[in-house]
Amino acid sequence: MLERIETRAAEIGGGLIIARALPNRRRRMVGAWCFLDHAGPMEFARGGGMGVGPHPHIGLQTFTWMIEGAVIHRDSLGNEQRITPGQVNLMTAGRGIAHAEDSDSAAGGRLHAVQLWIALPDAERHRAPAFRNYPDLPLVELGGFSVRVLAGSAFGHTSPAEVYSPLVGLDLAAAGPASISVPLTASFEHAALVLSGAASVEGEELTPGTLLYLGSARERVALGCEAAARIMLVGGVPFGEDILLWWNFVARHAQEIEQAARDWNTGQRFGAVDGSPSARLTAPEVAGLHLRPARS
Ligand code: MN
Repeated sequence: MLERIETRAAEIGGGLIIARALPNRRRRMVGAWCFLDHAGPMEFARGGGMGVGPHPHIGLQTFTWMIEGAVIHRDSLGNEQRITPGQVNLMTAGRGIAHAEDSDSAAGGRLHAVQLWIALPDAERHRAPAFRNYPDLPLVELGGFSVRVLAGSAFGHTSPAEVYSPLVGLDLAAAGPASISVPLTASFEHAALVLSGAASVEGEELTPGTLLYLGSARERVALGCEAAARIMLVGGVPFGEDILLWWNFVARHAQEIEQAARDWNTGQRFGAVDGSPSARLTAPEVAGLHLRPARS
């Protein structure tokens, strides 16, 4: 089963336009991955780039993979972390955290990054918030690809990133013609997104802007390219719980979303984020919104 799914343009803070691959109308999740935003590659002018002011999260982990440029993460636990190429920032929102993300270059520069969200299983979603930067992720050179194990395991290497359900996230970068067969976990569903250049995935020609859903029960995936390209592969055990995803929150009941929005807008529960040059975001009005359960 191969399913081509177009990404859609969405605006995040600071006027930055990104390509959103998840959720989409056809596939809301891939394993526990419930959100996939691809930013860049781009060159931005003075005052541009990423500028997402203080905002809250519940019930998920934010997983940021930096390819070009640098972004400063600041959160309500007091962490201030510059993330640079080759690194992952992993923030576990649990019962509640707030953060801001700003490009570390007022004068302009380059940006290429992916931000994913991981839904926390019911048993973990009320845990204490946490944040970690992972500067050293396993790297495997194979078939012309440099494979970075961002999350989970591949080729006998395991990412140190702490996640709460079985999943995988790989970045595969080639500087020229390359070809690789990646062993998969058959109980996972998987999807691939080309981040730059052009690649073939199981014989499907892909460029940025199309997510290829690979389904489950697959033992391997064949990836190749004729010239420099970068591919992201994500997967996980199909998430067996209905989730509600609204604004920056993942929950199970509309009431939890309403409470979180109210708490943020009245300055309760989440704490303050200091030092961001970007304005604090306000939760939109929840009333009247149709909260649809999401299930992969
Ligand atoms: Mn965020």
